[in-house]
Amino acid sequence: MTDDDHDHEHHHHDHDHDHDDVEVDFDADLAAQEEAEQRARRQIAISQIRQYGDPVLRMRANEVETFDDELEMLANRMFLLMHEADGVGLAATQIGIVKRVFVFNNEGEDVAVVNPVLAKTGRDVEVDTEGCLSLGPVRMPVERSVDVTLEGVAIDGTPMRLELEGTSARVVQHELDHLDGKLIIDRTDPEARREAMAQLRPRLVLSR
Ligand SMILES: [Zn+2]
Repeated sequence: MTDDDHDHEHHHHDHDHDHDDVEVDFDADLAAQEEAEQRARRQIAISQIRQYGDPVLRMRANEVETFDDELEMLANRMFLLMHEADGVGLAATQIGIVKRVFVFNNEGEDVAVVNPVLAKTGRDVEVDTEGCLSLGPVRMPVERSVDVTLEGVAIDGTPMRLELEGTSARVVQHELDHLDGKLIIDRTDPEARREAMAQLRPRLVLSR
C-alpha cells in the first residue's frame, strides 16, 4: 500500500529567494538533488514490483512451512523495497513470490508477518482513500474494519498476535487481500472502479 501522506512532504515553498545569499541557493540545489535521487530510487523499487495486469497479483499465495534464511532474506528485501517505493506495506505476491508473507510499517516499526490471518474484525467500518504499489498513481475509496486482531508467525517462527486500529488495521487488510489475489479495485465502489479501470487500461495496452 502507498503512503498518501508522503506527497505533502515534497511541496516546494514559495518563499522569496534572496539571490545575494549564496548559501540559500546551495541548500536549494542540494535539496533538489536529494529529491531527484529519491525519485530515482523510488522508480527502481517500483520497477521491481509487479504491476496491474500481471497474473501473479491474482494468485492465492501458499502457506509458508519452512522458516529458513531464504525467508529472512525475502522479508529484508521486502522491507527495503517498501521503503524505497515510499510504501507502508508490501505483499510477497507483489514481487512475484507466491508465499503468504507481507511486511508493513506499524506506527514506525517494520513488521513482517508470515501466514497472517484476521482472527477478529471489529464491527465498525470506515471508508478512506487507498493506493497500491501495483496500481501506479491510481487512488480510490475502500471500506475497511477500523479494528482488527491479526495473528500470524514472525520470520523466526514465533507466533504473533497484533491488535491494530486505524491506518495499521487498514494496511494489514490491504496486504492480506494481496495474498488472496484481491486488489482495491475489487473493494471500491462501482464509480471509482470505472474511473480506476479507465486509468489502468491504457497502461495495459502500452505494456504489451
Ligand atoms: Zn497493494
